[in-house]
Amino acid sequence: MSEREYDLVVVGAGPAGSSAAYMAAKNGISVALLEKEENVAQTVRTSGVTWIDYAKEFGIPEDCYNPIRTYNFCSPKNNVSISDEQAKAAVLDVRKTYRFLAEQAKKNGADIFVNTNVTEVITEDGKNNGKGLALARNMKQKLRM
Ligand SMILES: Cc1cc2nc3c(=O)[nH]c(=O)nc-3n(C[C@H](O)[C@H](O)[C@H](O)COP(=O)(O)OP(=O)(O)OC[C@H]3O[C@@H](n4cnc5c(N)ncnc54)[C@H](O)[C@@H]3O)c2cc1C
Repeated sequence: MSEREYDLVVVGAGPAGSSAAYMAAKNGISVALLEKEENVAQTVRTSGVTWIDYAKEFGIPEDCYNPIRTYNFCSPKNNVSISDEQAKAAVLDVRKTYRFLAEQAKKNGADIFVNTNVTEVITEDGKNNGKGLALARNMKQKLRM
């Protein structure tokens, strides 16, 4: 098994992992992003409601979300509707958005490994000092941090 060295190894290409990998790679840090599923966002685990300001902060294109202007709250005996002049929230096309974030990480130099289930992190001296090896099922390389 060969070995590669990275400044940062991120486990899981969900929104948190892909955003972290994207921001780290953008700032010149060498990053490996490991995802156990066959594809990024293969399984969707969210309804995808988010704030438009946050989407913009991460450069998520407008065609990845539908703005929401009206909110309806329903109970068995009541129904309340609230509208914003300007939409502040949106519903994401989750798969498209998460893949966009991972793609941005890749474009900025991150290496993405799918089908890679991290089973263990071994630290060099048994202490949690941020240095160690990520061991993953199906992986052809050890990743040193
Ligand atoms: C039913 C439901 C509805 C929700 N609705 C909303 C909503 O409307 N708005 C909102 O903001 N939030 C919502 N959430 C919360 C949102 O889904 C989470 O906050 C978000 O997904 C967390 O992102 P994450 O990247 O930390 O983790 P996850 O999205 O769980 O991603 C983790 C990734 O890591 C991978 N992984 C896990 N273990 C390993 C391993 N050992 N090796 C390699 N890869 C691994 C997984 O395959 C996955 O791709 C909802 C959650 C649920 C369950």
